[in-house]
Amino acid sequence: MRNFILAALLIGATTTLKAQQEISYEVSFPNAVHHEAEVSMIIPNVPANVPLKVRFARSSPGRYATHEFGKNIYNLRAFDANGKSVALKQPAGDVFEIAKPSGKVKITYTIFGNWIDGTYAGFDEAHAHMNIPAVFAFPVGMDKRPRTVKFSYAGKADWKVATQLKPIGNGVYYAKDFQYFMDSPIEIANYKNASWEVKNADGKTQTIHLAAHSDDDEMTVFNYTNMLKKVVDEQKAVFGELPNFDYGHYYFLHCVHPSYAGDGMEHRNSTVIVQRTPKIAGNESNLLGTFSHEFFHAWNVERLRPKTLEPFNFTQSNISDELWLAEGFTQYYGNLTLKRAGFRTLDNITRTFNG
Ligand SMILES: [Zn+2]
Ligand SMILES: [Zn+2]
Repeated sequence: MRNFILAALLIGATTTLKAQQEISYEVSFPNAVHHEAEVSMIIPNVPANVPLKVRFARSSPGRYATHEFGKNIYNLRAFDANGKSVALKQPAGDVFEIAKPSGKVKITYTIFGNWIDGTYAGFDEAHAHMNIPAVFAFPVGMDKRPRTVKFSYAGKADWKVATQLKPIGNGVYYAKDFQYFMDSPIEIANYKNASWEVKNADGKTQTIHLAAHSDDDEMTVFNYTNMLKKVVDEQKAVFGELPNFDYGHYYFLHCVHPSYAGDGMEHRNSTVIVQRTPKIAGNESNLLGTFSHEFFHAWNVERLRPKTLEPFNFTQSNISDELWLAEGFTQYYGNLTLKRAGFRTLDNITRTFNG
């Protein structure tokens, strides 16, 4: 019994320690009609006597160039544990510094987002579409700390969240560290969800989801999922197994509208696919190309990964000599598996390979 109590105390202490380390965000959309979101970030246990630097990212995984994400941020303020305003310096456009932080610091800011793709963010009446590096500030030097994020979307009763972040209840989503958080795009919308289960070589069952934010009926999304299944099965056959998705789920986050920017961006347990057609209906076969490419990345670049991209550096462009393998083979097998699944002819895909 004594050992039990000791163990319980130790577990309690570890949990408390973890909770004290956790960086927690809250995001709301009171002015979505003007493409704004409000973000707050609480950093507990900030080391004393060292200036605290908070900054925005300049790059995003899978997009091998720099982006000044901080340019879309304004009204940034800092507060201490008592809610008292704290003085900030701004040594660079996207870097903020508190000279003498107290134990707990809260940062709040407004972000403008009106570019729907796999890199930036967009907020409007239809959805909140977020690539994490484009939205979330982070404290420098705390990459190991877990993150939580909670969203408020009062007045949007039909919105729901789709993301590879781990849901931990009460509308809170969790990432074990900075790298996983930054790799986890989020779509909040009245999307249609279709999912299916896949059994892996080791007998483990996982679920693949299509969150389709489009002007389509349930039947179209369901039928499209059946096409997608065939592509996934062909890709499983290439490797002999599907990846072991971190929480047993993989998400296709799909936004479809002619006004959006077309894009596809791979992540570890999800992909963001933005397509510029009016609907999925009538365009199914064409749209599948990006799905096939991005899903192939779940292995090739996400798990078979150039060393040069680990860990990803969010403050500069990430130079790698191995992208011919990451992108070239993905492009090749993306098309080949479409042909094997019956959605392209040999002639179709050889023309693609010719450029
Ligand atoms: Zn959307
Ligand atoms: Zn690619």
